[in-house]
Amino acid sequence: MHLKRIEMVGFKSFADKTSIDFDAGFTAIVGPNGSGKSNITEAIKWVLGEQSAKSLRGRKMDDVIFAGASNRKKAHYAQVSLIFDNTDRLLNMDVDEVAMTRRYTRSGESTYMINQKNCRLKDMTELMMDTGIGRDSFSIISQGQVEAIFTQKAEDRRGIFEEAAGVMKYKNRKKEAEKK
Ligand code: ATP
Ligand code: MG
Repeated sequence: MHLKRIEMVGFKSFADKTSIDFDAGFTAIVGPNGSGKSNITEAIKWVLGEQSAKSLRGRKMDDVIFAGASNRKKAHYAQVSLIFDNTDRLLNMDVDEVAMTRRYTRSGESTYMINQKNCRLKDMTELMMDTGIGRDSFSIISQGQVEAIFTQKAEDRRGIFEEAAGVMKYKNRKKEAEKK
């Protein structure tokens, strides 16, 4: 499985519909300061369920929506889709391509979709669990996080290995079952 494409509209500096293709293997994004490189990684984190505005360098969730410029009106909503190649069926769906979408409007309406069908954030999280992608997984390592791993408490560090080993899904289900 790999990320094939990211499509954004109204997300941070990406006012216009922007589509970026990724090949299998290594991709580097280069560009001048302030050109939107970090915004791309934040768009990925956002779709994967990031709920903290602060970790997206904002004060409130609205801050992910294009705020307008001298010659452009602000956007009404932000929408980002991540399109994964699923020919290896790592994501538990019998299709070759899985698109995960998140949309957020200024009125505060939040929508999540898997292959254009509305779903809950929970459905998306569960689909990604143990695949190595996901909001809290090791697939996105931000500045400062490497030190954090070494200075973490043992049980927090254990979580990283459990996600890598693929047991997180079962632990979560057990926790849910115990709640009932
Ligand atoms: P650097 O090389 O300095 O790390 P970068 O390429 O990572 O730069 P980003 O931090 O991704 O750049 O982009 C920052 C730009 O995005 C700023 O110009 C900022 O004004 C713009 N930006 C952030 N949020 C919004 C928003 N909601 N609406 C419009 N523009 C935004
Ligand atoms: Mg940056």
